[in-house]
Amino acid sequence: MADIMDIIKGRDPREREFHQAVSEVIESVKPVLDQNPIYRQAKIPERLVEPERVIMFRIPWADDQGNVQVNRGFRIEMNSALGPYKGGLRFHPSVNLGILKFLAFEQVFKNALTTLPMGGGKGGSDFDPKGKSDNEVMRFCQSFMSELFRHIGPDTDVPAGDIGVGAREIGYLFGMYKKLRNEFTGVLTGKGLNWGGSLIRPEATGYGSVYFAAEMLSTRNETLDGKTCIVSGSGNVAQFTMEKLIELGAKVVTLSDSAGYIFDESGIDSEKLEYIKVLKNVRRGRVTEYADKYSSAIYTPVDPALDHNPLWNHKAECAFPSATQNEINARDAQNLIDNGVMLVSEGANMPTMPDGIDIFKDHKILYGPGKAANAGGVSVSGLEMTQNSMRLAWTREEVDNRLKLIMKTIHSTCVDAAEQYGVPGNYEAGANIAGFVKVVDAMLDQGLV
Ligand code: NDP
Repeated sequence: MADIMDIIKGRDPREREFHQAVSEVIESVKPVLDQNPIYRQAKIPERLVEPERVIMFRIPWADDQGNVQVNRGFRIEMNSALGPYKGGLRFHPSVNLGILKFLAFEQVFKNALTTLPMGGGKGGSDFDPKGKSDNEVMRFCQSFMSELFRHIGPDTDVPAGDIGVGAREIGYLFGMYKKLRNEFTGVLTGKGLNWGGSLIRPEATGYGSVYFAAEMLSTRNETLDGKTCIVSGSGNVAQFTMEKLIELGAKVVTLSDSAGYIFDESGIDSEKLEYIKVLKNVRRGRVTEYADKYSSAIYTPVDPALDHNPLWNHKAECAFPSATQNEINARDAQNLIDNGVMLVSEGANMPTMPDGIDIFKDHKILYGPGKAANAGGVSVSGLEMTQNSMRLAWTREEVDNRLKLIMKTIHSTCVDAAEQYGVPGNYEAGANIAGFVKVVDAMLDQGLV
């Protein structure tokens, strides 16, 4: 498969994360390509790695002091073989074309696994919402949407949240879209409950990652009850991962943000989780404050000189990386194994580096890759689109049951695909193969477009 990697590296040499995501998928689907020569004849790999459309734009806005600020905005419309482009918006200073292309590429296969009719896309900006006032965030979102609105629509491209884009940002973005288009449609998901949002959407990625973990454990006649769990992050995905783990009887001992992490040996219970939710979602504070409030907790700041992250070096049976890409390197992966971890369920996108994944596979632990394990979020986004089209709202129980069923189906789809291609128990290969086949067969059906 050197050829396709040569092509993308030659064309876009600086897009490291994109190369990493493509290489992982292409390695896994090699047996599928070998058994189906039509895919190579139709130049499927070459077509898959080239976005259908990339939109890049200027976002001028004024801060609270009246100074003009300029950020860069993007939307990658990667693949629409299965439905309208669907995928989140990320607001974070690290955002660039390569990161968004990796996320959009992953999203294509993830969305295919959900069984819902959604293509793949991703977008965002290098804007940092941290430390900005609500008014600054609103003005930024309005400026962002004043360009994006002409490229999206409920049957074209339906963005959602991701890092730095939560309920507040989706509200401001939706308000501007509605004003510019003069229509109230389901153009974004993750909307507020009383204006078109779906119950369980905020919870969906975290809950889904735990449901996926429970499915993996059931293949070894195990449950989450009584298991010690390491969770990274403290945002949307991490919070609801913790919530479901606590509900299922697991003991969560860590959480983190980009400045450091908390280890609470006595476990994070529901009351402590409520404190975290207010701290992060309302006060927009830092996790270090948790250690000031609870004496059982130890806070360790990030040390850039270290070659590993001490967060991953605690005794536990399960790990739920839920912060960002490439947060587990080979050393971290080895530390997890040495500490007794038997399951990793990726709430974040691509949190484990390739040599870390190899270590998980060598030790035959239950490793659920992000494109399967965190597909619950986009699944409930798909259910939000369905409810918007029907102009009705399902109950919490109905959405949660559908989410559980989707996660169960994704799990069995991965298991079956891995078995069919001779790599039983390899969820990474199973997810890549099943997602790939579904997308590329649709591409072939639709001709050379
Ligand atoms: P949030 O913005 O709500 O939270 C992100 C968390 O990760 C924060 O605690 C943040 O810390 C931390 N973080 C972000 N960047 C870094 C970094 N470079 N280094 C260390 N920590 C970092 O985002 P989400 O919870 O929505 O997203 C988390 C992950 O889950 C991402 O990989 C996202 O792509 C993925 N995901 C999200 C879905 C969703 O529905 N929201 C769906 C599927 C996947 P700080 O506050 O310091 O920035």
